[in-house]
Amino acid sequence: MQTFKVSNPKKIVLASGNLGKIKELQELLGGLGISISPQGDLNIPDIEETGLTFVENAILKARNASALSGLPAIADDSGLEVDYLLGAPGIYSARYSGDGATDASNREKLLTALTDVPIGQRGARYQAVIVYLRHAEDPTPIICQGTWEGSITFEHRGTHGFGYDPIFYVPEMTCHAAELDKSTKHSLSHRGKAIAHFLQQMSL
Ligand code: IMP
Repeated sequence: MQTFKVSNPKKIVLASGNLGKIKELQELLGGLGISISPQGDLNIPDIEETGLTFVENAILKARNASALSGLPAIADDSGLEVDYLLGAPGIYSARYSGDGATDASNREKLLTALTDVPIGQRGARYQAVIVYLRHAEDPTPIICQGTWEGSITFEHRGTHGFGYDPIFYVPEMTCHAAELDKSTKHSLSHRGKAIAHFLQQMSL
């Protein structure tokens, strides 16, 4: 009898242009004997993220990278939800401070939005959704999620990580995310948890 079995990939395109994310995903997916190529190395441009959920945006990114490369694709759509801001910036975390947003301008906008908000009302969490498509028209994407609870500090601390890490307080380590070494961040983070689920589902 013929069976429909997709074998493990040898090469995957990584559907992101965010250097911080690319570095972390390459660390998390290293040592599997799979070559992980960032889409920029294949001249694949970012696409517009028009979805209203992390899941939709991750699928859009993975599908674009897979269609243009002919390879299986993995995408990460992630962001920071702040309780006081009713979940903002959420899916808009990368573009929170508008056109030309940088990690620094996004952090400044967030700290300004939370000026005078007391410590007990600064709860926040990172969300990550990882999508894996075996090919561009894969009707059954693998979708994995991870969450990391914390809060937004009043000041910057630390030099590791990227994005909002210098102002994200990690209660279990009593420090800012940007003060964690990479392996500690991976063991706690939204991205680390989502990738752990992915590796389990793929039996990798
Ligand atoms: P995306 O490329 O649309 O998924 O945007 C993700 C954005 O969320 C990043 O640009 C960061 O602003 C934020 N973000 C996601 N994960 C992290 C993280 O691990 N540390 C810090 N910021 C993050």
